[in-house]
Amino acid sequence: MAVTELSTLEAVREKVEANERLTFEDGLALMESDDLLALGELADTARRLWGGDDRVYFVQNLYLNQTNVCRVKCKFCAFARTEKQDGAYTHTPDELVEDALRQRELTGFTEIHMVGGESPHVGFDYYVEIVAKLHEAMPDVHLKCFTASEIHHMTKLSGLTHEGVLRELRAAGLGSLPGGGAEVFADRVRRLVAPGKEHPDFWFHTHRTAHALGIPTHCTMLYGHVETYEERVDHLLRLRDLQDETGGFLAFIPLAFHPENTVFERRGWTFTPGSDDLKLIAVSRLLLDNVAHVKAYWIMMGLPLAQVALHFGADDVQGTVVREEIFHAAGAETETEQKIEELVRVIQAAGRIAVQRDTLYNEVRRWEP
Ligand code: SF4
Repeated sequence: MAVTELSTLEAVREKVEANERLTFEDGLALMESDDLLALGELADTARRLWGGDDRVYFVQNLYLNQTNVCRVKCKFCAFARTEKQDGAYTHTPDELVEDALRQRELTGFTEIHMVGGESPHVGFDYYVEIVAKLHEAMPDVHLKCFTASEIHHMTKLSGLTHEGVLRELRAAGLGSLPGGGAEVFADRVRRLVAPGKEHPDFWFHTHRTAHALGIPTHCTMLYGHVETYEERVDHLLRLRDLQDETGGFLAFIPLAFHPENTVFERRGWTFTPGSDDLKLIAVSRLLLDNVAHVKAYWIMMGLPLAQVALHFGADDVQGTVVREEIFHAAGAETETEQKIEELVRVIQAAGRIAVQRDTLYNEVRRWEP
């Protein structure tokens, strides 16, 4: 390890220990560091200094996708179809409710995570009806539904403002928003990978509005494609700024880009290396000093790497995830129906205390070692 690298990490450590906020330059130096173990140790130290302990969280959740019909055509997406393409589907609200009720008998999930394509062939009433019917059928289940991009799409369908859309969805039973649609905020990246998607300002406007209405949300970054280290750090700091303003983010979820079945696969791209996944977890933990939880999304990184990530600043492995289609369309090969016992075993094997939580991080059950 170079002397300069050692001193960079030591300088960051001093700041962390002095509870001093890290800067853009610090973030960049961390991204450029190859001393992975030191990064992990530093992130875990920061997590503990900021109140974290040995608890690692998961939620029992069901993934639903209401439609895979989408007008946007993001280049990284293997999930979307046009209405006439093979495999295109748009489920009715009743079909979604029926499916969820069947799954609930099997797994007893406490959260539904639902996102989908931006179909031009449905109206805003379709979304409201889905939420209302799910809420009516399962009033105790938390409905974490629709990315900021989908909310923006609904403003076009309805003529309502973002606030108007969110108010109607909340009245129907919406509990929180997932963090998708953020991708990487830098204009350059957006133009390259998601030219049809709305400007990132709308992502922030949607989340800021949700927070003002008391609707908590999540935040993400889809990394590992064309973005630079500078653009990653810029993305994280923009999230930190909004969290300073509103405090409405529950957790940050780094999402590694999966190239399979996308145009990038034909260009020979492969999955992000595990070292990059761990670095992203560590650096995001260190920069997002005001976001309580960083998730190691096992469905993308696999359980063994998620276990390592728990020592790199992550304290959440997401959930039991009954079915997941979006990342599996893009080649994620993890089992999608992880039983609670399996997650508990994996967390305990990593030396941590497994805690089942609800969406808002209230403890449901704890497994002491
Ligand atoms: S990522 Fe979302 S918005 Fe983009 S094409 Fe896929 S489904 Fe559509």
